[in-house]
Amino acid sequence: RDFIIRTTSVGERLALGVITIVDDLTVRNQLDTIRRDFVANVSHELRTPIGALGLLAETLAFEDEPSVRQRLANRIQNEAFRVAKIIDDLLDLSRFESEGAASISRVSMPELAMEVIDQISPAAELQRVTIDLRLNSEDTYVLGDRGQLRSALTNLIDNSVKYSEPNSSVLVEISQNNSTVTVAVVDHGIGIPQKDIERIFERFYRVDQARSRQTGGTGLGLSIVRHAISNHNGTIEVDSREGAGSTFKIHLPIEPGANQ
Ligand code: ADP
Repeated sequence: RDFIIRTTSVGERLALGVITIVDDLTVRNQLDTIRRDFVANVSHELRTPIGALGLLAETLAFEDEPSVRQRLANRIQNEAFRVAKIIDDLLDLSRFESEGAASISRVSMPELAMEVIDQISPAAELQRVTIDLRLNSEDTYVLGDRGQLRSALTNLIDNSVKYSEPNSSVLVEISQNNSTVTVAVVDHGIGIPQKDIERIFERFYRVDQARSRQTGGTGLGLSIVRHAISNHNGTIEVDSREGAGSTFKIHLPIEPGANQ
């Protein structure tokens, strides 16, 4: 009987060993696929504006009419901004992924939100969208990485403006309970189809490619938000209805390392 038991346990160990090796290979293959897809996506995203830059410069060289030259120069500038934005977003994403929440300080969320709203307001005004801020206390702090939290708020508020209808408003609401600070960003814009909601946090995923590009989107904003918030042990909630609007809520524990 001893013999049988020992044989079985060795067999089990062997079987487990085989399963582990298969698992490692599967994970490695999956990571390879993700990396290959990512490189292909980045190349594609950069190739489009760089191709446009080449063509625009060539056209400019043969154009004499000053007003057309000016228009071409403006378009060259826009495409160059676009390349820079993609690179900046990629750098943020890779930094947030590899560093975690790097430099922790006491961050006033109302102050941070006001700073971000001031920065986005000129673009919002051009679109005739107003941004309101509502607080239940001026004294709302989290211990976190200010740069990452700023980036999360910037991307969420920027999206809510970009995907709003003209003459509508965006509400940023900050509230707090004993352990958690919640920032809700509410818009009355185009909304997100139900089938796309679970994919919008993936890199380069967009519901409408054309609208995202036209508004200067890189398709990386929500991946940046997701990493920044998960680095703070926070969570994100999305509630959206097509044609009616979207609400993105982030819940952040007040203390770093504390789980909700
Ligand atoms: P993008 O640069 O394209 O805005 P994001 O990663 O920030 O990329 O968002 C991914 C996609 O999610 C967007 O292309 C858009 O289709 C959708 N989306 C994000 N926020 C909103 C919003 N507030 N309202 C409607 N759609 C949104």
